[in-house]
Amino acid sequence: MSWENISVILTTVLYMVSAVLFIRGIKLLGKADTARKGNLLSSVGMLIAVVTVLLEKEVTDTISYGPAQNAYIWAIAAVLIGGVIGAVWAKKVEMTGMPQLVALFNGFGGLSSLLVALTQYLTDPNINVFSAVTLGLTIAIGAIAFTGSVVAWGKLSGKLFKKNVTIPAKNAINAILALAGLAGVAVYAVSIATGDAGLGRIGIIITTAAYLILGFTMVVAIGGGDMPVIISLLNAFSGLAAAFAGLALSNSVLVVSGCLVGTSGLILTLIMCKAMNRTLYSLLFGSFGGSSAKKGAGSGKEPKAISVEDAYLILEAASSVVFIPGYGMAVAQAQHAVKELSDKLEENGAEVSFAIHPVAGRMPGHMNVLLAEANVPYEQLKTADEMNPQMSNTDVAIVIGANDVVNPAALEDETSPLYGMPIINAFEARTVFVLKRGKGAGFSGVENPLFTNDNTVMLYGDAKQTVSALVAEFDD
Ligand code: NDP
Repeated sequence: MSWENISVILTTVLYMVSAVLFIRGIKLLGKADTARKGNLLSSVGMLIAVVTVLLEKEVTDTISYGPAQNAYIWAIAAVLIGGVIGAVWAKKVEMTGMPQLVALFNGFGGLSSLLVALTQYLTDPNINVFSAVTLGLTIAIGAIAFTGSVVAWGKLSGKLFKKNVTIPAKNAINAILALAGLAGVAVYAVSIATGDAGLGRIGIIITTAAYLILGFTMVVAIGGGDMPVIISLLNAFSGLAAAFAGLALSNSVLVVSGCLVGTSGLILTLIMCKAMNRTLYSLLFGSFGGSSAKKGAGSGKEPKAISVEDAYLILEAASSVVFIPGYGMAVAQAQHAVKELSDKLEENGAEVSFAIHPVAGRMPGHMNVLLAEANVPYEQLKTADEMNPQMSNTDVAIVIGANDVVNPAALEDETSPLYGMPIINAFEARTVFVLKRGKGAGFSGVENPLFTNDNTVMLYGDAKQTVSALVAEFDD
């Protein structure tokens, strides 16, 4: 057997090994206690894939005989620089900065696929129509993922587009951009069949420009509570772009890894759509919550504050308590104090649960990760569907840094940007404690009538300090 054949077989086997590691890694990521191992396995899979790509015959041939004599130096330098930046960034990032970091990662994934496709277009003179279509789709989807994710990063970090942006006739503009971009792909494919390079260039420019703009217009107008859905969709797009790039380059491991990210992102998008009561159609072309100027009517009533001592007396007498965590718990890093309070309540004979809304926090699973870190048993974490029917029999609902996910306007006020989003029905509990620092609004900026309900009392202050003070009361 020739060395060439051995090299092809070896490459295929190594690609299969990394694909199996990715799939096994994703499976292990599904449970909190095996997630670290899953992450490690997937990383090893990625390392094997990267090294195998560099040793692939076409790559070594190009490097030996082609113009790119220094390609290995470029590739290794890129891996080292990217690896060091990624490692330092991931180490330094606060948990509350994770969502915007993930948004940027999605964007970089999309940008990489876009650049790979453009490079392939510029350097490969023997592209066939199939590769032309897959390259065109890689450019299209990669461009949307890139600009969309940069806007999402800006919104999540509060650095860009702090106020909701309204684009007049947004749906029509988006539809025109989407069609123009697809027309660009078709023009490019036709140019390959006819051998008209000038036409191909026009097609590529149209597609790239249209979808870079579409990524921006799609995401910039999104506000209300709809961001999580679009972030999941952008994640799916970054995977799909990689999968199409894999098809165009005939690289099986890129197809497998891209499909894994794309399909898991799409599944997450559908779960998020369900959680937000939105359809995929309304997500892509419908009107999002952010465009509404109305931010809630406001009841004119003032919320009632209560002291930690009085709150303790109510908690001590409670036989059922539900914690409803939100983004503020992540900001305050209150999860460990919350676990302590939950233990005290259980020692006191109360039944304790945690009601987790799918979009609580700033990324999917945010609250589950924090509570798992604090060793809250998985069985105590309940979904909205599990918890809501029991809420009217609950003595105390403790809302910790949550706002939008407990806002009854989502159920009652048709003019609210949150209208239609299922919530955790905290308002049905006998007594509701709301732990927040002041009168700050939630992510959507909508007023929350829960705070002025007769059965609601406010415990103002940083959530961690307030919860720790309640724990101290139990200790006294
Ligand atoms: P919200 O953003 O609605 O509310 C957070 C609340 O926490 C604020 O009202 C704030 O009030 C309070 N808070 C902040 N810091 C502290 C602190 N240190 N101690 C106590 N309270 C604090 O959070 P929710 O979790 O209820 O809702 C999440 C929102 O984010 C939804 O609209 C969702 O759509 C959106 N979103 C979710 C994503 C996801 O994937 N999960 C991604 C992107 C957006 P105050 O300032 O007065 O303290």
